[in-house]
Amino acid sequence: MDADIVVIGGSPAGLMAARNAALKGTNVILIDRKESIGNPPHPANTLFKGMFDRTGETVDQCYVIKKLKGARIVAPSGGEVFIESPAYFLNRKKFDKYYAKQVLKAGVDVRTGIEAFNVIRNEEIFSISTNEGTLRSKLVIISDGINSRIAGLMGMKPIKYPGDIAWSMEAEVEASGLGEADMFEYYVGSHAPGWKTTYSPCGGDRATLGVYVRRHGKDVSSFFDAWVERFKKIKGLNELSFISKSVGGDPIAAIPNEIIGEGVMITGGSAAQSGIGYGMHAGQICGDVAADAIAKGNVSAAFLSEYRKRWNHEYRNEYYLGRIALETLRKMTDKEIDSMMKLFEDEDLSFIQGDPVIKAIHIAKFIIKKKPSSLLLAYRAALRRK
Ligand SMILES: Cc1cc2nc3c(=O)[nH]c(=O)nc-3n(C[C@H](O)[C@H](O)[C@H](O)COP(=O)(O)OP(=O)(O)OC[C@H]3O[C@@H](n4cnc5c(N)ncnc54)[C@H](O)[C@@H]3O)c2cc1C
Repeated sequence: MDADIVVIGGSPAGLMAARNAALKGTNVILIDRKESIGNPPHPANTLFKGMFDRTGETVDQCYVIKKLKGARIVAPSGGEVFIESPAYFLNRKKFDKYYAKQVLKAGVDVRTGIEAFNVIRNEEIFSISTNEGTLRSKLVIISDGINSRIAGLMGMKPIKYPGDIAWSMEAEVEASGLGEADMFEYYVGSHAPGWKTTYSPCGGDRATLGVYVRRHGKDVSSFFDAWVERFKKIKGLNELSFISKSVGGDPIAAIPNEIIGEGVMITGGSAAQSGIGYGMHAGQICGDVAADAIAKGNVSAAFLSEYRKRWNHEYRNEYYLGRIALETLRKMTDKEIDSMMKLFEDEDLSFIQGDPVIKAIHIAKFIIKKKPSSLLLAYRAALRRK
């Protein structure tokens, strides 16, 4: 046996799972096919403090490029809603390296440049074949990112609605003073079906622009090109230099499904636990339960279901409410989105507090007070076949 646990993939969730399991005295190997953790970096760069706080970690300034006040949500007609909520533009390479250091400090054997090809279980021992030979362990944690190849090879379906992954394209761009704004901007409407386009300022002349589109295939470049032209008009820019471009999938509305098997746990984007902060917390729960399973000598799916139970308790409602909201948004016309957002313009939205269900109730109460027919409009859109 090479280790009690092998973690495949140094995603934010994988790092936390490895760290937490090792902190509880378990012998862990973490492998990643990248040349080092965080290099090349994942394009995800935005961290909302409220979401990150759920991990119990403290934001470290060493990986913060810029602190922002929150987000502006922009309707198709240009109307705006301000959500005040502290957030950070991250240096993703430094962020990943910061947590990789913690993982090493916890005693995890981190091996980079190692790609897992397959995982086979025989007589309660896993054999993980890699480009550098085979590793053996009692338990495997899969955190290899969206569309997990390893989970697929093991016959597991960790994502409930894979067709609802938001496919995205993000670019780092430069123009005079473009990075100076103090809020993220998210634009919704038919120019980005199912989710949003983004402008994320990161100081000086730099920013990132992104599109996130659902149910229009993986190639979203035409939406991206249109967004760049529209953005230039909005900001009155003649020129925009492109530094880099990346593509990927964000399982924002895709919902975790089969995330546990006999001796197997799946975490992070590969389990539709979208978002850096939420992925990390899912990884923490996963690592804690994995360590308990090793300590008890019981890696059965029944024992590991504690991971599912704890994740459900923390996040299930929030992910389902998020999915309903995004599905409704996807089905609404631009006119409907405009009239819904008008209700929230120039309002103090600080009343939207509490857990996700309470937040949803506060929002519904607010709409009923302001314009009850709007709820009917959203309800009609949600039921629409599209
Ligand atoms: C363009 C884009 C922008 C996004 N922006 C944000 C954002 O700003 N904020 C936010 O919270 N979320 C954002 N997201 C959501 C994002 O998906 C998650 O927040 C998070 O980064 C997800 O990480 P992950 O779990 O999917 O794994 P990843 O970070 O993709 O990690 C998977 C790791 O597994 C490794 N790996 C894969 N296969 C193997 C193998 N066979 N063997 C060994 N190693 C392997 C990879 O090298 C990689 O390091 C964004 C998503 C996309 C696509």
